[in-house]
Parts: sequence; C-alpha cells; structure tokens
Amino acid sequence: MSERAAPFYCPYCGDEDLRPSEAGHGAWECAACSRAFQLKFLGLLAQGLKRSDTGGAQI
Ligand SMILES: [Zn+2]
Repeated sequence: MSERAAPFYCPYCGDEDLRPSEAGHGAWECAACSRAFQLKFLGLLAQGLKRSDTGGAQI
C-alpha cells in the first residue's frame, strides 16, 4: 500500500504550486505562501462513511 498522498491545493492559501519537501515523508512546501506541511494517513474509519440522506430517522 502506497503511503503517497499528493495534495492538489495548499490547505493554507489554496494555491496549487506545491512541491515535495525534503523535510520528511509526506512533507510538502507551498511556493505561494512558503508554508511547509505534512500529510499523514491516520487509518481507516471503522464503519466507513455513511450517508444520512437515505430517509427515515435512524438512531
Ligand atoms: Zn500556500
């Protein structure tokens, strides 16, 4: 399983000029705002994402 995750937009300024950082695995640098950030995979959700628009009240 690949741990690569490439962001499309900077989470801070929204710019697309991202490039991999040498700071570490999953680290990226934004050339627009000069911020460095890191993506981390936390794990899978236990039940997945359930949509609540199926109608009816479910408790
Ligand atoms: Zn940015």
